[in-house]
Amino acid sequence: MVRDDEQVDSMEIDEKKQQQLEAPTAVPEGFNTDYLRVYYGKLFPYGDFFKWLCYGNDGKHPGCDQSYVGRREFSFTLENDIYLRFQSFDSATELESSIKEKCPFKIDIGPVYSVDPSKRHAYAQSGNNVFVPVERELIFDIDISDYDDVRYCCSGADVCLDCWPLMTIAIKILNTSLRDDFGFSHILWVYSGRRGVHCWVCDSRARKLSNEQRAAIADYFRVYKGGENALKKVSLAGPVLHPFLAQSYMDVLKTFFEDRLLLSQQLFSSEERCQKILDLILMKGLRRCVEEIVFSYTYPRLDMEVSKHMNHLLKAPFCIHPKTGRVCVPIDPSNCDDFDPAAVPTLSQLLGELNATGFQSDSDNSLERTSLGKSISFFRTSFLHPLLKACKEELESAYNAKLQQSKNSLNW
Ligand SMILES: [Zn+2]
Repeated sequence: MVRDDEQVDSMEIDEKKQQQLEAPTAVPEGFNTDYLRVYYGKLFPYGDFFKWLCYGNDGKHPGCDQSYVGRREFSFTLENDIYLRFQSFDSATELESSIKEKCPFKIDIGPVYSVDPSKRHAYAQSGNNVFVPVERELIFDIDISDYDDVRYCCSGADVCLDCWPLMTIAIKILNTSLRDDFGFSHILWVYSGRRGVHCWVCDSRARKLSNEQRAAIADYFRVYKGGENALKKVSLAGPVLHPFLAQSYMDVLKTFFEDRLLLSQQLFSSEERCQKILDLILMKGLRRCVEEIVFSYTYPRLDMEVSKHMNHLLKAPFCIHPKTGRVCVPIDPSNCDDFDPAAVPTLSQLLGELNATGFQSDSDNSLERTSLGKSISFFRTSFLHPLLKACKEELESAYNAKLQQSKNSLNW
C-alpha cells in the first residue's frame, strides 16, 4: 500500500491514466515544492493550529501569558535536509508567512522554553543560562516498523490493512489508560503519514510534567522489552497481572489476538512461526504463558525516548509525509477501527479537489471543499474547542486565586 514512486506497477499506471481521462482535474501523484506551495497557500489550517499551541494565552484576559506561544520551538526541515531549529512565532500570521516563504518539507514542534528560543544566544551571552524547556505536551510515538518480528505481511515502512490494526490496538490501550488511569482528557491522536501514530496529551497537568515524571509514565506502559537478542520480549512479573494490564488483556488484546491476528498474520502457518510461539512457552512454563504470548504479539511498543524528554521534537499534525504524500491527519480514537491509512488524502488528491472547484476566490472556503475538511472539523470540534474551554477555566481560576492571594496579603 505504501511504496515509493518507482515501485508503482503497470496496472496502477493504467488505472491512473484512466482516472486522468475521466477527471480532467486529477493531479499526478507526487511531493514537491510546487505542490507544497499550494497546500501551504490554500489548505494548511494556520488559525486552528496556532490557537491550539496558545492554550488560551492569546486572549484579552489579564491572566494570559502573552509571551507563552512565542517561547515555543518550531523546527523546519527544508528541501535537501536543511534544518532550521529554534524558530518561534508570536502570531498565527507570523507563522503563516514563514511557512509560506520557507515551504518546509517537515514541521516539528518542540517544547515551550523559559525564553524565546530564537533569542537564546542573546540570553546565553548575558551570563546566566536560563534557556531551558519548561512545558511540553506528553507525547507518544508508535511505529509499525517496531513490530517487524510479529508481522509477516509487511516489513519496515510498509503497512497494510492486515498489520495496521496493531496501531489501532495501541491507540485503544493507551487512550483508555491515559483517560482512566491518569485522568487526562485532551488527547490528540495523529497519523504519522506513513507507518505509525503520534499521541499528544495536552492537559496542562501533562504539559508541566518533569522529565522524571514522563519517564515514570512511559515505564508504566512498558511491557515490551524489545532488543534484537532478547528472545523473550515480554515478561509479566508478579502473582497477578497489574489491573491496567489485566483490563487491556480482557477488553482488547485477547480478542484481537484470537479473532484477527492469528489469521491475518497466519501465526501457525509454518514451523518457524510455531517455533517462535513455542519458544515463549518453553522459557516460562505454562503459567502466564498465554498472556505473555498475546502481550508479545499485540501490546503497544512505544519509542520510549520520545516520551521521556521534554525537548524531543515531534512532527506537527497536518504536515505532509514526503514519501507517501499523505497528510498527517488526526485520528478519532473512538472510531479508530475505521481508520484506513490508505484512505488518507494525499497532497495531489487535495490539489485535484482544489482544481475541480476552480480555485474560487474565497480562499477561506477552500478547505471545506476538499477531503481535508472533515479532518479539520474533527480537530476543531473534538479536540480544540474542549481544550480551549478548559484552558479558559483554568486561566480564570488561577487568576482569581492570585487576586485573592494579593487581597489577603494586603489585609495583613
Ligand atoms: Zn502488513
